[in-house]
Amino acid sequence: MKIEAVRKLHFCSGHRVHGHETKCANLHGHNYILWIHAVADKLDVVGRVVDFSVLKDRIDPWVQLHWDHTFLAYEKDTELLALEPLSPKNKPWFICPFNPTAENMAIYLLKEIIPELLKGTGVEVSKLVLFETENCKVEVFA
Ligand SMILES: [Zn+2]
Repeated sequence: MKIEAVRKLHFCSGHRVHGHETKCANLHGHNYILWIHAVADKLDVVGRVVDFSVLKDRIDPWVQLHWDHTFLAYEKDTELLALEPLSPKNKPWFICPFNPTAENMAIYLLKEIIPELLKGTGVEVSKLVLFETENCKVEVFA
């Protein structure tokens, strides 16, 4: 049997999708909702997959620091990066090694960031669901 515990996080980011054919090539932003699915074969001695606060306390600070209320800019989007010196100095843009689609953002979190943040906890994340709008989401599976 597999049991999942799911924690929701929220952040606001600006981006543009490099190479997009229509309106998503314009600068714009989203109120993203991230659902983190932690999975286990059995529960801990208390009866949990993981305490929900572990997921929030380990992952949310990174998301807030790096992605919330800033701009996600693709490192190869030279047109956009030319504007970066105009950005507010209190929070630098996050320069992405990927085009900041919801798919690439979720993959980056699942593969590159979350494993480091959860190191030592024994928690396994099986899936991320990232809502870009209430109508549009992506799901990535470990
Ligand atoms: Zn967008």
